[in-house]
Amino acid sequence: MPEKNTKENKDDLMEKVVSLCKRRGFVFQGSEIYGGLAGTWDWGHFGVALKNNVKQSWWKKFVDGRRDMYSIDAAILMNQKVWEASGHVAGFTDPMEDGKQFNVMFKTQVGAGDEAVTSYLRPETAQGMFVNFKNTVDAFHPKLPFGTAQIGKAFRNEIAPRDFLFRQREFEQMEIEYFIRPADWEKYFEYWKGEMLEWMEEVGLDMNKVHELEVPKEERAHYSERTIDFEFDYPFGRRELFGLAYRTDFDLKNHKLEYIDEEEEPARAGGKMIPHVIEPSFGLDRAVLALLLSVYAEDEKNGETRSYLKFNPSIAPVICAVSPLLKNKPELVEYANTKVFASLKAEFGRVMWDDNGNIGKRYRRQDEIGTPFCLVVDFDTLSNNTVTVRDRDTGEQERIKVADLKSYIKEKI
Ligand code: ATP
Repeated sequence: MPEKNTKENKDDLMEKVVSLCKRRGFVFQGSEIYGGLAGTWDWGHFGVALKNNVKQSWWKKFVDGRRDMYSIDAAILMNQKVWEASGHVAGFTDPMEDGKQFNVMFKTQVGAGDEAVTSYLRPETAQGMFVNFKNTVDAFHPKLPFGTAQIGKAFRNEIAPRDFLFRQREFEQMEIEYFIRPADWEKYFEYWKGEMLEWMEEVGLDMNKVHELEVPKEERAHYSERTIDFEFDYPFGRRELFGLAYRTDFDLKNHKLEYIDEEEEPARAGGKMIPHVIEPSFGLDRAVLALLLSVYAEDEKNGETRSYLKFNPSIAPVICAVSPLLKNKPELVEYANTKVFASLKAEFGRVMWDDNGNIGKRYRRQDEIGTPFCLVVDFDTLSNNTVTVRDRDTGEQERIKVADLKSYIKEKI
C-alpha cells in the first residue's frame, strides 16, 4: 500500500526514527539525566558502529581509493588569527530576532591568567586543511590537482538547534579541499558533484529524496563564487544535506599561502601561483539522519506490523546475529558459541550474540537494528552442520553449511 504523504505521517516518521534510535541504542539525548543540553546528542553502541561505517565508506572512496588525496587530522583549537584571516570572526554570524548579528563560534580561553589567549572551537574542519597547505606541499610534493581530506568535529553555537541530528551545536564534518588551477574550476566542480552523488547512492540514501539547489549569490557564504546545496526531503521539509562550494583562492590568499607550479608558465614569477579550491563538504550527522530516514521501513509479518532498517550490509551496524534456538539447551548454546559465533566474530567483528527472549522477539530486535542476517543453531545443526539464515527484508530462511558461512557473508558485503 503506498504511503500517504500527509503531515501526520511525516511527523510520525521522524518520531518513529528518534524513538527507535533511543530504544535500540543508536542515539541518546546529550546529558539526558540532567535534563539534556540543547543541540547535543550522544551516540550509543550501534550508532557508533553506524557512524564508523559511514565514515569508512567515505574514507575508502575519497582517500584510500585515490592517488591525489592527503588526509589530515588538525587540532580543534587553533590560533585565533586563523579565524580572523578566514573571515569567521567578522562574518560567521546568524541574524537574531531583534536584528542583532550573533557570531556562532564558541569562544574559549586557552591558558591561565595573563597568559590566556582567546581561541574558538572550530566551526568547520576546512581551515585545518588550509593552514596545513604548506606542510602538505612540503611533505608530499603533490602536483595539481590534489586534495586534502579531513573528518572531525565542528562546533556552532546555533541559535535554534532542532530536528534531532539535523541542527546541532556539536557535530562532525567530512570535508575535502581540492586544489586546482583556476581555469579548471568548472570542470572539477562538475566532477565533484558527480562523485558526491555517487557516494550518496553507495551509502544507501534514497536518491529520490536528494535534490540539487543552485544557491543564489546573496545566500552564498562569504568565500564562495558558486555553491550547490544537496538537499534532502526530511519529514520536516526539504533542507540542506551537503554542500559543494567553489571557494576560489579566498582562503589560501588570506592565509598568504602559495604554490610553485612547475608545469605551468615557469617563467612567470618563478611559477608562483595561488591554487583555487573546490570544496565538497559532508555533514556526517546529517548523512546518518538522512540514511536512517531512507532505510526505515514497516511491513506486516504474521498479522503484526514490524519496523526494520534496510541498511546495505556493508553499512549495517551488525552484519549478523547468532542465536541458539533455545538458550536452555547446552548443546545448542555450545555449538552456536564455539562453532559459529566465535569464528564469525573474529572474521567480521560486527557480529552479535543474541539469545534473549524467543526467536520471534530476537528477529524483531535485529530487524530494528537493521541486521541483514540472523543465524540460528537448531537441533538439525547438530546432525548436519547447517544453520538457518534469515533474510531481514524478506523474512525468508535458508539453510547454509556452517563451513560456508564466512564466504556467504563476504559475498553480501
Ligand atoms: P545550514 O544552512 O543548514 O546552517 P550551512 O550551509 O551553514 O548549513 P556549511 O557551513 O556548508 O552548512 O557546513 C557544511 C555541512 O556541515 C553542511 O552541509 C551540513 O551537512 C553540516 N552542518 C552544518 N551545520 C550543522 C549543524 N548545526 N548540525 C549538523 N550538521 C551541520
